[in-house]
Amino acid sequence: MSDWTTRVLPEYTRPYGVEEVHDVWFVPNGWPGKGPAVSLIVPECELQFVAIGSDGEPVTLINSPQVNKNVRRWLRYACKIATAHRACLFVACDTADEAERAAKRATKWLPNHQRSALGPSCSARTRPGALPPTYSVSSRACALAGASRSTCPCRLRFGFGN
Ligand SMILES: [Zn+2]
Repeated sequence: MSDWTTRVLPEYTRPYGVEEVHDVWFVPNGWPGKGPAVSLIVPECELQFVAIGSDGEPVTLINSPQVNKNVRRWLRYACKIATAHRACLFVACDTADEAERAAKRATKWLPNHQRSALGPSCSARTRPGALPPTYSVSSRACALAGASRSTCPCRLRFGFGN
C-alpha cells in the first residue's frame, strides 16, 4: 500500500452513476499552474489531450480505441506526450490497484514530473463542439498544442488504434 489517496470523493462521482473512481495526478516540475493536460481513462484507454488553442480557448482531442486497449502501451504514450508538452497527466481508474500500478509506471516514465496529491485545476472542461471521439488530426496535433509538428518528439496524433 502506498500513502497516496486516490479515491475521488463519492459525492462527486455519484451524480454520474459512478461509485468509485481513483485518480492519479502528475504535474511538470516548475508547473506554472496552467497549461496542457493529458488524461487516460483505465481500463478503457481513452486518451484525451487538452491544449490551449491560439484563440485562448481549450481544444480537446479524444481518442477512444475500440481495440488495442493495452493500458501499459497507452500510459507510456500518454507519458511521452506529457513530457514533450510539459503537460499535466491525469489517470482515472476504476480501482485503487489500477491507480497504484499506473502511478508506479508513470513515475518511471515521467522524469520531469512529480506526483501531485490533488487534481490541480488544469483539467479544462470539454466544450460542446470539441473534436469528436476518434477524430483524426494526424500531424496537426502537436502544432495545435503550440509545439513544432515536425520536431516534437511525442508525434501526437489521434485516431489511430481504432
Ligand atoms: Zn507533441
